[in-house]
Amino acid sequence: MTKENDLGTTAAIYSCEEHVEYALEEVVNEEGMPPTLKRIESGILSTKRCAYCGKPSVYIVSNEYSHTKCG
Ligand SMILES: [Zn+2]
Repeated sequence: MTKENDLGTTAAIYSCEEHVEYALEEVVNEEGMPPTLKRIESGILSTKRCAYCGKPSVYIVSNEYSHTKCG
């Protein structure tokens, strides 16, 4: 049982501080909606690297949308 595709596509782009805008634009262009931006805690050793330059990533940009209720 995998939980990866229970809501369709969930893309996540890892990026450093320099390229976070690139990642944001990429997700917006693909999804047409503002992505979710999360900052990786500095205490956590990130094994992921920036998709653009290969430096250790600082942000996770994803298109996961929570089903928040209005009201
Ligand atoms: Zn970078």
